Formats: sequence, structure tokens, C-alpha cells
Amino acid sequence: MELLDRAVVRSLPAVPRGIVQRLSSPYIAGPALADARRAVAALNAAGKLATVDVLGEEVRVPSEAEAVALEYHAVLDAIAADRLDANVSVKLTALGLEIELDLCRSLLATLVADAAARGIFVRIDMEASPFVDDTLRLYRELREVGRDNVGVVLQSALRRTLADVDALAVLRPNVRLCKGIYVEPPEIAFQKRDEIRESFVRVHEALLEAGCYVAVATHDEWLLERALARVAGRDPSEYELQMLLGVREGRASELVEQGHRLRVYVPYGDRWYEYSLRRLQENPALATMLAKATVLRLVPGRSG
Ligand SMILES: Cc1cc2nc3c(=O)[nH]c(=O)nc-3n(C[C@H](O)[C@H](O)[C@H](O)COP(=O)(O)OP(=O)(O)OC[C@H]3O[C@@H](n4cnc5c(N)ncnc54)[C@H](O)[C@@H]3O)c2cc1C
Repeated sequence: MELLDRAVVRSLPAVPRGIVQRLSSPYIAGPALADARRAVAALNAAGKLATVDVLGEEVRVPSEAEAVALEYHAVLDAIAADRLDANVSVKLTALGLEIELDLCRSLLATLVADAAARGIFVRIDMEASPFVDDTLRLYRELREVGRDNVGVVLQSALRRTLADVDALAVLRPNVRLCKGIYVEPPEIAFQKRDEIRESFVRVHEALLEAGCYVAVATHDEWLLERALARVAGRDPSEYELQMLLGVREGRASELVEQGHRLRVYVPYGDRWYEYSLRRLQENPALATMLAKATVLRLVPGRSG
């Protein structure tokens, strides 16, 4: 990343929330479940699958975690009622992981059980490195009591990930593989783009060798081409590609036309700020977008 871009990314938290909200609107379905329902129905109509995420990372007290869990049950209701081709993605901090492990364990178990009763899959998102052990532990516990409608995420940026694949292989986990969005120290995480890419390729190979169903989650054309080459000849039901709402939508449509299963990550909710910052920080056009938004604010009658 260029120096100027890095400076822009660092300054993003100082940008007024109104501007962050406006710039990040393509990445979020909207504030309410009805918005997510509409977004998923539109994706399904275009041949794309979806995974619905209730935004809720800034959870600090048990009642907030319980409220997020309740909202997820409403999402399951909606998926079933509208017969949507969708599953859910959940962050364990939103279910109280930072408050109390047992609270999170219990809310997650109830959610996965409810989803199982409706034939819906639950993907546990992977968060920053301090949460990886607990996330994998709760995933393993669910699998060990026989839940198989649950999957996990592995991040190629983390140096530990190949070892995690080894340790999880007996469970033949359903894995979403991504680069990893969190800023991690060099002792535990690759820092260079090429190292993260190489690790992605190695982890993908290891997961396929272990017989895992892999959801390849990337917009990186270099990685996408290699992943497609690696699954060439397999039945499309044996793997999937995943992208985020609002990112490379044209490329996603092409992949669908070519017969691949393509799932779009659809976040919604009113706790949009943290997620929005991360998406904007990854947008190569951030500097230009911010410059335009700032200029527009200075033009009389165009504030906001
Ligand atoms: C479905 C899905 C689920 C994910 N789940 C997790 C998770 O659980 N845990 C986790 O740590 N990370 C998760 N991520 C994020 C992931 O780790 C990366 O941070 C993110 O995907 C960017 O990496 P990339 O592989 O797309 O490559 P990049 O090099 O970042 O992007 C490749 C290209 O895609 C385009 N692009 C990427 N992002 C944007 C954007 N915001 N706006 C406009 N264009 C963009 C640009 O053209 C860019 O050059 C997920 C990603 C996806 C797609």
C-alpha cells in the first residue's frame, strides 16, 4: 500500500460518521431485517446465494448479546418464511464472547440448534487473534455433540492456520477461507501481500486434501484464478466462492454465469460503524471517495 493510502486509512476514524455511513452504504443492506430480506431475495433472483450477518460487534453487556441472538432467530424465521437460499454468519463477540464464554457458548448452541431444526447452516466468522482459540474451541464442541450445520472461518494471514487445519482435519470442517481483515503483529501474522497469498494457496490445498468443503472468500483476482484452477473438474456442489455485498458485483455475476456457487455476505443492522470502517479501509478508491465527499460537503447545499 502506498504511503498516502496508508495515511488516508489511518485518518478514517476522524472522518464524520455521516460521511462514513454514506460511503459505506453499498456494503450494508440497511438498518432492518426487512432490508436484508429484500437484498437476499434480489441476490437469489440473480442466482446468488447469501449469508446474513447481524451487525453487532460493540456488544458490552449480556442483554445486548441476548438481543443479537434474538435477532438471529428472527433471521432464521425470515429465511424459512421467505424460502430464501441463505444461511447466517455470526461473530462470537456479538454473542458475548468478550463478556463471558459460557454466555456465548449457550447463545451459540441455541442458535445452531434452531438453525438445524430448519435445515439452515451457521457460519462462525473469525475475528481478531485473541478470539481464535475460543472460537475454534466452541466450534469443536458443537461438532463433537453432533452438530454438522455449523462451519468456521480460517484466515491465511495467521501463521498458525496450517496447524489449525491439521488439528481440525478429523472433523472434516466446512471452512470459509479468507485472508483475514484484522491488523495483527508480525510474530503471529504474515504482513506482506505475497506471503498472505501464498499461505492462502497452501491452506486451500491442505483443506481440499483433508476432504473439506471450502468456501473461498476473496475478491483478489490472483487468488480467485488459482482457487478456480484447483477446483476445476469438481462438481459445483463441492465448493463455493464468497464475496461481500457491494464488492466486485460484476465479477460475482460472471462467476454465477460460469456455473459456480457464489455466496454474498449480507450485513444489516444499526451497529454499522466498525464494519463500515473495515470495508472502506479495503477499498482501493478510498482516497478518491473521501476527497470527493469532502469537496461535496464544502459545496453550498450539498452538505451531509
Ligand atoms: C464472504 C467474506 C467473508 C469474510 N469473512 C471474514 C471473517 O470471518 N474474518 C476475517 O478476518 N475476514 C473476513 N473476510 C475479509 C477478508 O479477510 C479480507 O479482509 C477481504 O476479503 C479483503 O481481501 P481480498 O481477499 O478480497 O483481497 P483484497 O486485495 O483486499 O481485494 C482484492 C480486490 O477487491 C476489491 N475490493 C476489496 N475490498 C473492497 C472494498 N471494500 N471496496 C471496493 N473494492 C474492494 C479491490 O479491487 C481489490 O483490489 C471475509 C471476506 C469475504 C469476501
